[in-house]
Amino acid sequence: MDENCIFCKIINRELPSSIVYEDENVLVFKNIEPQAPIHLLVIPKKHMRNVLEADEETISKLFIVTNKIAKEQGIDKDGFRVLTNCGKNAGQTIDHLHFHILAGTKLEEKMI
Ligand code: AMP
Ligand code: ZN
Repeated sequence: MDENCIFCKIINRELPSSIVYEDENVLVFKNIEPQAPIHLLVIPKKHMRNVLEADEETISKLFIVTNKIAKEQGIDKDGFRVLTNCGKNAGQTIDHLHFHILAGTKLEEKMI
């Protein structure tokens, strides 16, 4: 738990969010400023800055939940994008590891 971290506060219910999935290690909630019709954030409950600090088990769990959620949301059929920003040049704004799941429309191919 990082006291100044917005996502840790969401995990601890100190801040509101729209949660779509939760288990012992992972939380999935809706992005407050969606960039696509479906825009979810998949985060580990343990605070870590980004992929550079992530251990194998955490990365694996995030992808397993991503797979499960994609099927639950029905976005496995038409496809979706998973992305994670890492550091300044990627525009990471929240220093708690998160995967974005973007879906529900044909996404731009250009990433920059
Ligand atoms: P990033 O730029 O990859 O660090 O993404 C951070 C994301 O978190 C942005 O897409 C924000 O819209 C989203 N975000 C920030 N605060 C909240 C919040 N309180 N609840 C849900 N999503 C949030
Ligand atoms: Zn945190």
